[in-house]
Amino acid sequence: MSGKFIMSLDQGTTSSRTIIFDKNQTIISKCQQEYPQIYPKPGWVEHNPLDIYNSQYSTAIDSMLQADISPSDIAAIGITNQRETTIVWDRDTGIPVYNAIVWQCRRTADLCEELKKDREFTQYVKENTGLLIDAYFSATKIKWILDNVEGARERAESGNLLFGTVDTWLVWKLTDGKVHITDCTNASRTMLFNIHTLKWDKKILEKLGIPESMLPEVKNSSEIYGYTDILGTKIPIAGIAGDQQAALFGQLCFDKGDVKNTYGTGNFILMNTGTKPAESKNGLITTIACAIDGEVTYALEGSVFVGGAVIQWLRDKMRFFSSAQDADYLGAKLMASEGVYFVPSFTGMGAPHWDMYARGSIFGLTRGTTREHIIRAALEAIAFQSMDVINAMSADINDEIGVIKVDGGASASELIMQFQSDITNKKLIRPVIAETTALGAAFLAGLAVGFWENRDELKNSWVLEKTYTPKMDRAEAQKLIKGWEKAVRCTKMFSED
Ligand code: ADP
Repeated sequence: MSGKFIMSLDQGTTSSRTIIFDKNQTIISKCQQEYPQIYPKPGWVEHNPLDIYNSQYSTAIDSMLQADISPSDIAAIGITNQRETTIVWDRDTGIPVYNAIVWQCRRTADLCEELKKDREFTQYVKENTGLLIDAYFSATKIKWILDNVEGARERAESGNLLFGTVDTWLVWKLTDGKVHITDCTNASRTMLFNIHTLKWDKKILEKLGIPESMLPEVKNSSEIYGYTDILGTKIPIAGIAGDQQAALFGQLCFDKGDVKNTYGTGNFILMNTGTKPAESKNGLITTIACAIDGEVTYALEGSVFVGGAVIQWLRDKMRFFSSAQDADYLGAKLMASEGVYFVPSFTGMGAPHWDMYARGSIFGLTRGTTREHIIRAALEAIAFQSMDVINAMSADINDEIGVIKVDGGASASELIMQFQSDITNKKLIRPVIAETTALGAAFLAGLAVGFWENRDELKNSWVLEKTYTPKMDRAEAQKLIKGWEKAVRCTKMFSED
């Protein structure tokens, strides 16, 4: 191991980014490139797999130029990626047979409804993959490609096609088609992976008609998978995790009970549940947090679909302000939202409510309601929705959650963070490095090549930026929570028919 830096490839839904870290976890350079979103029909979302790869590769090169370093300075590459997004390509030519079907794409919703009619299968999927049958996960997206792209099924059955999530596709491209692998965290989002046996599940593959020969080999999240040649230098690719699992690792949530919440477009709350999977009875999913040296750590996960996106909506559609930061300033002009509640379930409700048909609603308007009330209610809603997931987690593990580690764009909001602490009655901590997703992938790669010796060493360099502790009177918090619960009930009622 000769390099002085770790390169983290952070392949997101709207952009590809590369961040280079040094041994002290300092960011040496950071490059980002957006790439086109393709919306062929309402509810359908696709990416061109070559756009994904090309934008990722060019940010990798740019990041080295920006830092004025050469490929030989890079000790290893880590990859973190948008999860579930599905790519199928030709084993020999490397040409994708169809665009990448993105995690947000709802085209297989009807197929999922059909599958759910088989109660026994639904239960089997939950018990063995940890997931609820949903169009979100890769399995039905692969089936769609095999059923709808001319000749795809025959080619797949004759062993000519390969499937991969975005990590798999990037590794395959970076190794010139030599390595077809994924890691356990990404495999656990396909709805095809048995999280107990750690093998592809034959029963589910058979039910969906997906040939096992298409699937990548499943590896640890931290090991050398292969080498990429950049300008004549071979660099090991040594760490992979899906974005939310990478953030959990980047937040140093290594121990059972550790929780992180990423406040981005949506809110993603994950709790490390240790080496045994915890089954949720409260609307969460069970997933793999990471696999290192053959030891698997599991997590409970709850996703809130609309988090920071409600602020974007107020900015772009309501034109209440011109930048997300202004929301905080305007919302903080009031001491409270004074009975106004905003349930921003624009695309249905995620965990723990799972109501696909719910739509957004605002309650408690009076003649005195101002723009500031609605903004404040929207900011509070980001915290209330996270609270619902956190409470579901506590119920699942039958224990109190101690501290919540926070990151993501909207964790910059003082108002959301303090309110979150107040209503959950919990301490929140925010690290200096907000790029926890990229950092997590860097950690996994760095550990695999001995750049960092062990997890304790990682803890030594982690720097806290800010702590939030509850300040609100508990009775007042309870009153606000009651109002929120009523608003959620009414929102669900409105979509009942
Ligand atoms: P993603 O990775 O999902 O694109 P980011 O972590 O970059 O998301 O966070 C962006 C989101 O955070 C946007 O939806 C934006 O509206 C929200 N956001 C950013 N700053 C603030 C703020 N100060 N207050 C509230 N929301 C914010």
